[in-house]
Amino acid sequence: MRLKGKTALITGAARGIGAAIAQAFCREGAFVYLTDIDEAAVRQTAAVLGDGASALHLDVRDEAHWQAATTRVLAERKALNIVVNNAGITGFESGMVAHDPEHAELAHWRAVHATNLDGVFLGCKHAIRAMRQSGSAGSIINISSRSGLVGIPAAAAYASSKAAVRNHTKSVALYCAEQGLPIRCNSIHPAAILTPMWEPMLGSGQEREANMREFVRDCPLKRFGTPHEVAAVALLLASDEATYMTGAELNLDGGILAGAVAAPNADH
Ligand code: NDP
Repeated sequence: MRLKGKTALITGAARGIGAAIAQAFCREGAFVYLTDIDEAAVRQTAAVLGDGASALHLDVRDEAHWQAATTRVLAERKALNIVVNNAGITGFESGMVAHDPEHAELAHWRAVHATNLDGVFLGCKHAIRAMRQSGSAGSIINISSRSGLVGIPAAAAYASSKAAVRNHTKSVALYCAEQGLPIRCNSIHPAAILTPMWEPMLGSGQEREANMREFVRDCPLKRFGTPHEVAAVALLLASDEATYMTGAELNLDGGILAGAVAAPNADH
């Protein structure tokens, strides 16, 4: 029961990594608000978790949604201790549009940043305000990505938005410390975690097997990670075991970033 007595809010919790984090937090005794843009789906996910969970409709891009959600949490639970800014999109949800620096459309660039970066900015802002208001110690966990640490030419907006999340996490951590608030803020940088987010990129049938192999070719552990492996790290950051950790970034990538695969071609 590492989170006993704590209240958590998780964005994008209907499925994938967010749902796994919600499950882990409930198991460890927290009361968890699962939030998502897909209200029906998040209700279903929360229902399975029983009395320790509640579902809320929250589009992370909409500040009014954040205001309503945090007001409700404080009214119902008196405190908010943990916020996980997990909701994110790749930009490929409705098809393989161009996301390289030369051909990407401004509207597509902005759409990715609206969810991945504006959503995290709003999540941190309203987490700090709610935690300050209730006088509770808090942990804000931002889900960035390996893609926020390296360039990704084919998904430039995604990489840019995740790099900004990494940096904003440190600003939030320092701001809270300067303010004397007992609020920590850290980022997690996963890579290749098998969730529905990958579906548009994996295809089906034999092509799917080949694509899966290709995606983990440069991963030292030669496999996709699981949402539960990300949840385990989020649990550590959320708990009082991590009270001296703030402004930190934790990679969770099967060792990908431990080496360099961008070696020049031997022929050149
Ligand atoms: P999924 O696509 O499986 O789940 C994301 C959830 O967020 C979906 O339920 C989605 O709803 C929801 N969502 C999308 N837009 C919004 C919004 N504006 N407001 C609220 N909820 C929204 O993703 P993952 O679980 O794979 O990823 C979770 C996080 O982890 C993301 O930030 C992602 O970038 C990051 N990450 C994932 C990696 C991976 O390999 N899976 C690697 C590195 C980072 P809907 O389905 O209706 O769109």
